[in-house]
Formats: sequence, structure tokens, C-alpha cells
Amino acid sequence: MRIIEDLHLHTRVSKDSVQDPEAYAIEAIKRNIKYLGFTDHLDLDPVDKDYGYYRYNDAAKDITMLRNKYGNKLNLLFGVEVTYQKELENSILNATLDKDYDFLMGSVHRLEGFTIAGASGLPFFKGKDEKTAYEMYFEEMKSLVNMNYFQVVGHFDVIKRYGVQFYGPFYAEHYKEIIFPILSEIVKNGMVLEVNSSGFRQLPGEPYPSKEILSYYVSVGGTEITVGSDAHSIKQFNFGLKEALYYALKVFDFEVVAFIKKKKIRLGKISSFTEEYSLNNNL
Ligand SMILES: [Zn+2]
Ligand SMILES: [Zn+2]
Repeated sequence: MRIIEDLHLHTRVSKDSVQDPEAYAIEAIKRNIKYLGFTDHLDLDPVDKDYGYYRYNDAAKDITMLRNKYGNKLNLLFGVEVTYQKELENSILNATLDKDYDFLMGSVHRLEGFTIAGASGLPFFKGKDEKTAYEMYFEEMKSLVNMNYFQVVGHFDVIKRYGVQFYGPFYAEHYKEIIFPILSEIVKNGMVLEVNSSGFRQLPGEPYPSKEILSYYVSVGGTEITVGSDAHSIKQFNFGLKEALYYALKVFDFEVVAFIKKKKIRLGKISSFTEEYSLNNNL
């Protein structure tokens, strides 16, 4: 199984990474990966400890440097992973509208002032039952999707990253009523669900989202995905991506897409029958 893209990468422009971006480009060329997406964290909540760390100019400078050096060998996409919070929609628009991004990934990382996608957010779960915690998360995800502003929806069920530690395995069917309309909205708006392999190196031991959610996505007409390792260092680059693709293939034949200047590029379909791609664009 060939990896043709990794559209979720963090570099030193993210507070939780010190990685020089060039290493990803060099490694991608070695592995014949044609699309790389840099998605550093943009955190806009003034009370968040990571607030103000992201610098657009530094991120843009890195991309320009990489494109000048390696642009003839692979596509280097300028993305950003926006921490979505409903009350910050105006700040999100202000920070991104006039910028030169290829794509915006929207992710829910914070609830009630806690960074639930990180270890510092553990107190969020304490004293909360599973239903309360997960429904709060998916409500926020619903707002993210209703904003209809992002191209990619990042790690759709990342609440399980630490949720499993408190409540055991995550069963999407308990949240079907709320998840289905969110997925329908994604498809209706032409947004794309990310298959994120970082769950393999974390507690859940499975990708974000789980196969149940992928199957719901199919039943509302979803076929398009982006794939990303959510690497914060070169060691994590592509980690688990092949496994994540095989995992998704058990559920559906999907189409891998990328975005250039917000325009969707269809890279190829993977068939569960052959487990191989029919590739577009001479990949
Ligand atoms: Zn994230
Ligand atoms: Zn990320």
C-alpha cells in the first residue's frame, strides 16, 4: 500500500513541536510521497497557554523556502490546524481570511477551558460521566461543521484519546444521533473527513475516527478523506498511516484528496478489492 500524502504535520511553528520542517520534505522524497500538508497549531483562545505562539509569517517563510528547494519533487501544502471554539469564530475568521493557506483543518481541542486533546486536559473528565463529556465534545464538533469554513475536519473523535482512560473503549453507536447529522453536514458542505493515524501511537490503539464512524460517513454519502499522521517529530512521520488505510478499507473504498488554494484535488481511489489505488494526476 503506497502512501501518497501526509496532510497533518507539525513543526517548530507549533508550541508542542521543535521539528525542522525540511526533514519531512527530505523523507517524503525518499518515500515517493507526493503531497505534504503542514498544519501547525493556531490557538486563538486568550486564556489558552498556547495562545499567541503561532506566527503566520514564520510558517509562510518555511513553506516558501521548502517550495523553492523541493517544489519540483513534491507538493508542499500550506495548511493550518485551527483549534475551533464556537465563541471564537470571529477571531478564527480574522486570523485566517486574508491568509495564503491551501487548506484549513478544523479541530476540537478544547472544552470548558481544558485542552482535552492533551494530557493537561485530564481534569475535564474528572467527575463527568461519559455521556456528558462526549456529548459536549460532539456538540462543539457540530458547531465546527456548521460554520462551514474548514476544508478538512481533523481527528473527528479525538475525545476518545483520553476518554478511554476514564470510560473504557469508545462506542460510537452510543452517540449515533448526534454524529450522523454532523457527518451529513460535512458531506453536504463538501468538507472532508481526515483519517488520522496518531491514535495508533496513543491509548485508543485505533485511528481517529473509528470504523463505526467511517461506516456512518459512508452511509451519508461520504467517500473523500485526507490522511495524516499528526506527526510532531520526524520519528512520527507516516507512523501508522498504512495501518490506518487498511483499517479504513475494511469499511469502504475511499478517495484520497488534497487541497491547493482551497481547491479540492482528487488524487486517487483505493479499492478494498485490490487494496491499491487507481491514481489520478500521474502520481
Ligand atoms: Zn489536533
Ligand atoms: Zn495536529
